Parts: sequence; structure tokens; C-alpha cells
Amino acid sequence: MSYRCPKCPAAVYVPDSGRACWNCGERAELWQDFSTATTAFSAIYSDVTGRLRAIASRPTVQDTNRQWFDYLIHGFHDQYLAWQWKPDVRAYLLGFHRARVPRLFSLSGDVYLHISYDLPRVIATSLGNVPADDFGVIPRPPSSVEDGSILYLAATDEFFKVLDKHAVSYQVSGLLALPAAIARSLLALRVLGFWVIALRNAAWIHAQVLAKSVVRDKLEESLITSVRAAAADALKSPWNPARWSIPTPQLLAFFLSFVFLGGASASEPLTMIAVVVAVIALYSMSVYALTVRSIDRLGRAIYNAANAVFESALSNETALILPPEDRPRPLAG
Ligand SMILES: [Zn+2]
Repeated sequence: MSYRCPKCPAAVYVPDSGRACWNCGERAELWQDFSTATTAFSAIYSDVTGRLRAIASRPTVQDTNRQWFDYLIHGFHDQYLAWQWKPDVRAYLLGFHRARVPRLFSLSGDVYLHISYDLPRVIATSLGNVPADDFGVIPRPPSSVEDGSILYLAATDEFFKVLDKHAVSYQVSGLLALPAAIARSLLALRVLGFWVIALRNAAWIHAQVLAKSVVRDKLEESLITSVRAAAADALKSPWNPARWSIPTPQLLAFFLSFVFLGGASASEPLTMIAVVVAVIALYSMSVYALTVRSIDRLGRAIYNAANAVFESALSNETALILPPEDRPRPLAG
């Protein structure tokens, strides 16, 4: 896989081997923990990819559109792999992949980034007249934007199915996999699913603008900057469990010693066990409830941040985002 050098966009090289750009010597610094950090995302991702392929291989889908869809699937995956060497993307991701961040929240960070930043750029490349993408692959257009949009929407329902399926996996949900197996879904992942749909639809709209924009590079840069800022804000909230610096075992030990010292006598072992179980359950439930809340708020923040980039470009008269012939004419009369 090759990549367009960020310093000299004409140069294409392969940074995943740690090689330097042949033209300017820029060496991509690799994120060593990339695969381990994004395991949960990657598991869900390959499931989604399989389902998208199944949709594209339906006999009702024209060859042109199948090739276009294939291009998107490859393009999305290339962008995901590029996370390991793109500094701005890595800065975003490191906020989510730290010790003590609830794993469902880390997963949401990955999912939101991919949909709000990677998707619109790949779709835009497939719709515009770009000779080759950042990875040196020749994009395939759909038979028409309308046909493409219908095929794109057809995939929507798959996301809930995939998220429900993976809710029961320890890799994705941790200990919550147990209650998820009984409920056959997990509220945190359902909330994530709703934002996945919203962000994915917005990505389609953003892609239409990017594809025709005369300031595409600028818009893309603003997009990652805004998404990063929105995430940094969400991570700063005192109600976000990702921010808590007291590690769970220590907090539990504190609770337990409080219970033991605070009157539960050894002559009532059953009462003592009940209190300990109740405290652990209450604590876990609070962390979970706040995680769900954080996933929801992050989705909303990124959704608004991405939209605001295009809104401000439109209202800023010095930054014309579309060439004159594509600008809507005022209605006559
Ligand atoms: Zn270079």
C-alpha cells in the first residue's frame, strides 16, 4: 500500500515499512500499538465489510456500482490503516486509547473518527475526477450519484445487526458481554449505532461538497481539526469516566474498606457479602451509565463539529467552496 506524502503531495511512498519519502525524506512515525489498540474496532469493521460486500454482490446491483462499492470498501480500509502513521489522527486516537478509558468509549472514538473523517473523503474521491487516491488506487465512480446514494443507504440496517452481534463479545464489551448476552444487545452500542447512522448520512452529504469543492484540502484539514477539538472537549468533561484518574481497583478497595470498617461485623457474613456485592454493582452501573452518556455526547459533538466546518465555509464569503458553475443561481422573478 502506498501513501501520498503530506509534505510533498506529489510523492507516493509506503510508510508502513518505516521508509522515508523518496522526495523530501519525511519519515512517518508509526503508532506501534495500532493493532492492539484498535482490536475491537477491527473486529466490528471486518464484519461490516463482509456485509457490505454481500450487499454489493446482490444480482440487482449493476457491475459499475459493484466496482464503485468495492472501491469504497478498499478506500475506507486504506484510510483505517493510515491511522498508524498520520500524526493528527493519532493525536485524536491517543485520547481514547489510554489506561482506564472504558473500552466501549475507546471503540466509539474509533468509530466516530472513521465515519466522520475517513468516509466523506473516500466517497468524495470516488465521485470527483481524481486520477488516483492517496494510496495510488484509481477510483471508480458509481453509475450515477442517485444510484450510488441508494446503494449506500441500503447498508444502514446492517450496523445495528453487527453491533448487537458484537455486544456479547468480551473483546468489545468486557464484562458487560454477560448481561448483553441475556438482553441480546447493549444500550451503549445501540446509542453508538444511532450516531453511526447519523454520521454516515452526514458523511454522504459532506462528500458531495468535498467532491466539487475548490478548497477541498482546506475543508479536510478543518474537518480533522474540528473533530479533534470536539473529542478533546468531550474527554475533558468531569462526568466522562475516561477522565477519572482513580483506577477502579483502588476505588473499589476504598469502598470495601469503608464498608468493612463502617459497622458490618464479622458475625454477619451474609450481610457483609450482600453489602460488598451491592457496592460493586452500584459502582459498575454508575460507570456504565456515564459511559453511555459520554458515547452519546461525543457522537453529538462530532456530528455538530463536522457540520459546522461546512457551514462556516459556506458563510465565509472569502472561501468559495464550489466553482462558479456549480453554485445555485438565484430564482428569477
Ligand atoms: Zn515527501
